[in-house]
Parts: sequence; C-alpha cells; structure tokens
Amino acid sequence: MKKSEVDVLIVGAGPAGLAAAIAAKQSGFARVRVLDREREAGGVPRHSLHTGYGLRDLHRVMSGPKYAARYISKALEAGVEISTSTTALDWAGDLALALTSPMGLEEVSASQILLATGARERGRNARAIAGTRPVGIYTTGSLQQSVYLRHQEIGTRAVIIGAEHVSFSAVMTLAHAGVQTVAMLTPEARHQSYFPLHWGTALRYRYALRTKTKLLEILGRERVSGVRVATPSGEEVIECDTVVFSADWIPDNELARRGSLQISESTKSPIVNHLYETSRSGVFALGNLLMPIKSADQCALEGSSLLSKNW
Ligand SMILES: Cc1cc2nc3c(=O)[nH]c(=O)nc-3n(C[C@H](O)[C@H](O)[C@H](O)COP(=O)(O)OP(=O)(O)OC[C@H]3O[C@@H](n4cnc5c(N)ncnc54)[C@H](O)[C@@H]3O)c2cc1C
Repeated sequence: MKKSEVDVLIVGAGPAGLAAAIAAKQSGFARVRVLDREREAGGVPRHSLHTGYGLRDLHRVMSGPKYAARYISKALEAGVEISTSTTALDWAGDLALALTSPMGLEEVSASQILLATGARERGRNARAIAGTRPVGIYTTGSLQQSVYLRHQEIGTRAVIIGAEHVSFSAVMTLAHAGVQTVAMLTPEARHQSYFPLHWGTALRYRYALRTKTKLLEILGRERVSGVRVATPSGEEVIECDTVVFSADWIPDNELARRGSLQISESTKSPIVNHLYETSRSGVFALGNLLMPIKSADQCALEGSSLLSKNW
C-alpha cells in the first residue's frame, strides 16, 4: 500500500475545505492536500446552477459552478494539491487517514487534519415514510446532480417536501428539467425562507405552498403516482410522478464517528472549540459538518478564518 505524508490533509473540497486549504498555504504550510470523493472538486455549489453564491466572501453574487470554479483556481494557484475521486475511508492512526481512489489504497499522515465533509439532506429512508419504493424520489442534492451533472430525465409533476431556502432551489432545478412543481408541503404554519424568495418563486413557477400539511405515504408501484397527505381538513392524495425531499439536514459525520471524536448529542456534529479543533489534538472540523446549516460564503469564511486562528 502506498504511504505518504503532508503537512495539512483536508477531507472535502467544498467551499469550507478549499478556503481552509488556501489559508493553510498562505500561512506557510508547504504540503497541503485536499481530497474529495467526487470526480470534481467544488462541493455542493458545483451542481447548484442558480445564482446566490459569494456575497460575503467574494463580494459579488454568482452561480454555484462559477463560485466553485473560483475557489478551485485560487487553491491551485496557491499550490494546493487537489485529489478527486478519492474517499477517506477510515483512520489509520491519530493523525493519519486510509484513502481509496482509482490508484488503489493509500495511507496519508499529516501534522493537521481538517474534516470539511459537509451535510446532506435526509432522504426517504431516514424519514420513515410509509408506502412503496418506486422510482422518482430525490433529495434536492441528488436532483441537482441528476439534472445538471448527468442530464437525466426526471418526470413531469413534482411534490416538494419541506419549505426552506433549499426547497426553492429544488423548484428552479425541476423547472430547468421541464418538471412542473405542483405543491410544496410543510407541516409548519408558514415557509421557513425569505418572503421575497417564496413570492418570487411561487409567482414565476406557479405551485401551491401547502402549510400545516404532512406527508403520510408515497404511492405508486414502479414509478411514483402520488402522495397521501394529512391536511387541517383531512387526508387527500396529490397526483405526481416525482417527490423531492428537501432540507432536514444531517452532518456528514462518518469520519468523525469512526475516529471516536466527541459528537454533539443535539446536532450530531463533532464538538469543536473556538479554534475549530475537535476533541482530538490536531484534528479540526468546519463548514456544514458543523450544524446548523450555513450558506456557502459563511462556510468559506470559516475556512479562511483558520489563517488568523491557528494555521
Ligand atoms: C440545493 C442547494 C442549494 C444551495 N444554494 C445556496 C445558495 O444559493 N447560496 C449559498 O450561499 N449556499 C447555498 N447552499 C448551501 C451551500 O451549498 C453549502 O453551505 C456549502 O456547499 C457547504 O460547504 P462545505 O464545504 O461545508 O460542504 P460541501 O459543499 O457539502 O462539501 C463537502 C465535500 O466533502 C466531500 N466528502 C464528504 N465525505 C467525504 C469523504 N469521506 N472522503 C472524501 N470526500 C468527502 C463531499 O463529496 C463534498 O464535495 C445550497 C445548498 C444546496 C444543497
């Protein structure tokens, strides 16, 4: 097995990981390596085609892919080594990780390790929803990957579960794929986003926001045919061939748990001090791995702040 050594090893090439890598290079670390299991670096913004990225860190508003490209080129210019299609599987020591990539297995040790593995939306299985297991069920993240990266056919009529910022991103992605959003459901009394975002999206894409409405069951044999929901006036079925589960985030804490780092009971994120250091000396965590969920620029600013804090 190949063995190697770097000064700083960062898992996750999203905004947080890339910004931290640039900060590490600027503070004088010679060998800084960032790895990501995806085929390309950039994290979530890479497949989030709409605008809304970069305000607080780059002082302009741009699309997700442009924002990701900006961080990738800044990291490469700074001399960061980026390894894509490379997954950190487990720990190989207190400050060492076991990796797998198309080149085979590798063990990398470092003087500092940063976990910037992000968060994901809870999918259907994690939400304990009754019903069958037909085709046509996504999270916003998997929908965006299917539409923007793999250019797959999605369906014709969608119901979105959840009414947070990311749910409006799902509406735009569905429209891009030629899918009509027929309803957005939330058990809450109102949506949990900004009013202009809701009004603008609802006006443009013409869907019904159904508040105080709870998903009970997904219907359909091979393909989704509808959802059974509970509303204040009783149960009803909404016909659709696509269901998107949005928001309801869970931190991607696999490595933190495997490393027996202290995890918060309430957020399921690794516990960090004011320097973003976890319960293991030399191991740091930041970005959306630390809940609650934040925007990309906030995650990148956390990464950049390592320059002044401890790198
Ligand atoms: C649909 C959607 C729309 C959004 N729209 C906006 C918006 O308009 N504006 C905005 O500011 N923010 C937006 N956000 C939020 C923003 O994308 C996130 O805040 C940001 O991407 C978080 O950055 P991060 O670096 O913490 O994590 P991520 O971007 O999630 O990156 C984490 C990376 O870690 C990698 N990884 C995880 N585990 C491993 C492992 N074991 N080995 C190797 N690699 C690993 C993953 O592949 C991933 O690339 C949106 C999010 C979504 C889902």
